[in-house]
Amino acid sequence: MAFEISEILEAHAGGNYDLHAEHINPRWARALGVIGFDKCYTSASGPYLWDRNGVKYLDMLAGYSVFNIGRNHPTVRKALTDLMALDYPSLVQIEAPLLSGVLARELKRRVGYGLDRVYFTNTGAEGVESAIKFARRATGRTDIVYASSAFHGLTNGALSLNGGEIFRHDFGPLLPDCKKVPFNDATALEQALSGKNVAAFMIEPIQGKGANIADDSYLAEASRLCRQYGTLLIADEVQSGMGRTGRFLAMQHADDAEPDIVILSKSLSGGYVPVGAVLMRSWIYDKVFSSLDQAVVHSSTFGQGSLAMAAGLATLEVMDDEDLLNAAVARGDMLGRELTAMKSEFEFIHDVRWRGLMMGIEFGKPKSLKLKTAWTTTNGLNKDLFCQAITIPLLSDHNILSQVAGNQMTTIKLTPALTISDQDVAWFLEGFRDVMKRLHKFPGPAWEAIYRIAKNAIPSGRSAAE
Ligand code: PMP
Repeated sequence: MAFEISEILEAHAGGNYDLHAEHINPRWARALGVIGFDKCYTSASGPYLWDRNGVKYLDMLAGYSVFNIGRNHPTVRKALTDLMALDYPSLVQIEAPLLSGVLARELKRRVGYGLDRVYFTNTGAEGVESAIKFARRATGRTDIVYASSAFHGLTNGALSLNGGEIFRHDFGPLLPDCKKVPFNDATALEQALSGKNVAAFMIEPIQGKGANIADDSYLAEASRLCRQYGTLLIADEVQSGMGRTGRFLAMQHADDAEPDIVILSKSLSGGYVPVGAVLMRSWIYDKVFSSLDQAVVHSSTFGQGSLAMAAGLATLEVMDDEDLLNAAVARGDMLGRELTAMKSEFEFIHDVRWRGLMMGIEFGKPKSLKLKTAWTTTNGLNKDLFCQAITIPLLSDHNILSQVAGNQMTTIKLTPALTISDQDVAWFLEGFRDVMKRLHKFPGPAWEAIYRIAKNAIPSGRSAAE
């Protein structure tokens, strides 16, 4: 009998949450049910998802920045199906694959900084692990410095550079010699580096958790300090890269910053195939792969898979062809400015920050007494409750998928596909305005809903990999 995936989909339609509860992660399945995020999506295109009832959703997460070019992009799909139709070989292992060479060249052209060697990975965390190893071997030092609220992945080494205690707790011992410094604080960084024993300083130019934007001057100073003290500067662009902020890398906004290693992943394959890349100076690479018998001293089985490489090449082509860097700036500025204007109308909005389409809306204590009481009570119950009181009705009443930023639970993070239209921006703004209006009426039904959620011992709507 021929295998038909469509038959499997049909036979199990609507069974997502039962299957998960039974075989995968019952807590996650339940959490999604409590907050009403237990949808069964059956179709996706660009920035949209459709559920099995045909309802259309605007996806403001893009799979945590995996779908910068939108979901199921026809160009990437064609590249993959064409390659499959050719029965093209992949993972021969003892050979030099053609497509990874071409993709490496294309990435170098976009990244610059004289980063001349590319190491391919499958995930962001694998890129981080690789960068830690490369930095240690290249410098002969062991210490790694990272920033508060950093997120670099959840494997053991990457977790050792995680700024959020919630992720680290009970998973120790983690890697030794990893030191945390406050984000955006050059003085503290200099103190940490001045002992000249730090192999690398790893930084997200815009932190994924909270959409915290490092000052350009801080990144430039970090770069200078790293050079002064013999430390490698590693830019983790797993989330902020691939055009999300309006430049190919977020680091490229800071004119005088020059990373020695850049880590990419997420959007690199247009979301079809896991892929990542670590770009570095050739002297670093040469210290790692230092002789013929060290030529594969670091590797991973699925690195440089032909489908991943083809998807990467197609994704870069789409980004150029559709001018997505400029699109990110245009839609990001439109959304950011409109949200900023709402600050005067809605006292809960404290800050709106963005670069391109990486955006955080931060909420805080309002001025008026009545609302202040509401805020204090809610925060006392659960730190991310207020933001959930926004993301839940955004989905249930406006069909907009959004998220609370992990680590910084008073912030909603927006990272939609860079292909969103002016109409999509209007869709979000209209939904958001409606939800904010309701939350500014206290007491009122919106607040009753919050307390109902709290009573259900609401699980966090955050997900680790965000
Ligand atoms: N670095 C950053 C900046 C990230 O945002 C993430 C994932 N959100 C990672 C690393 C880890 O990537 P992955 O989940 O693919 O391991």
